[in-house]
Amino acid sequence: MTNLHRQSLGDFELTIVSDGIYHSDGGAFFGVVPKIMWSRKVKTDENNNIPVGLNSVLVRTGRHNVLIETGIGNKLPDRMAKIYGQPAKLLENLAAAGVSPDDIDIVINSHLHFDHCGWNTMRSGDKVVPTFPKAHYYAQEGEWQHGRRQHERDAISYISDNYDPLIKNGQMHLLHGDQEIVPGIFARIFPGHTANMQAIILKSGGKTACYISDLIPTTWHLDVTWVMAFDLFPLETIESRKRYYRDAVPENWLTIFTHDPEIPWGYVEKEPNGKMRLKAIG
Ligand SMILES: [Zn+2]
Repeated sequence: MTNLHRQSLGDFELTIVSDGIYHSDGGAFFGVVPKIMWSRKVKTDENNNIPVGLNSVLVRTGRHNVLIETGIGNKLPDRMAKIYGQPAKLLENLAAAGVSPDDIDIVINSHLHFDHCGWNTMRSGDKVVPTFPKAHYYAQEGEWQHGRRQHERDAISYISDNYDPLIKNGQMHLLHGDQEIVPGIFARIFPGHTANMQAIILKSGGKTACYISDLIPTTWHLDVTWVMAFDLFPLETIESRKRYYRDAVPENWLTIFTHDPEIPWGYVEKEPNGKMRLKAIG
């Protein structure tokens, strides 16, 4: 039986730490999929919103405490906090997992949308300060450049206070494509949601886990064609999902779902009819 929030992967220990549940428009989350189909998986409220998780992962490698993704944080402008909610639970959930912000050595952001890097920094009085003062932060250079250009399509998703202060003070390192960040922890680009979104692949003791981020945001999105309306390159999302499954299914990777409010991780398998599903565990 897999523990819902903690399990080992070879020599690594993985703990799901959530920043809470926020709200997203259900239609936006399922793109062109008709509501009559997706509403069998998740119920909407009176505003057509669905509950969406903010799952970060704490990886204790034995040498480093690595935090993958930092949720929404506590700096949302009022009008965004009204629409999405601002649960701001990450620090208390980290404390419950036994670590303080000072204990985090490395922070990795899959991409720089506001709901993935919000706790990189936090408000302290009228200043914005690093939440994890001793950490080295990692994100993709191409992702940062895209956020900086403030394209009309998704400018609202990029809040520069989440990363520019860290670039200025030298704490954030910008990656160029696929690479190993520390032994056993790899960044790999899967384009689709954005051009430079990276998955974070964890390898230890012959086992593999993958924080696949918004490429497959929840267990509702396992079908290669169930693509979110937010994705900038939906056809690439489909190709990237196929590429992911080609490795992850035969090698039995543990897949970590960034936005699933109930099932943070699981193993994906192919049904005889070719559809993807979550393996029953127990
Ligand atoms: Zn995103």
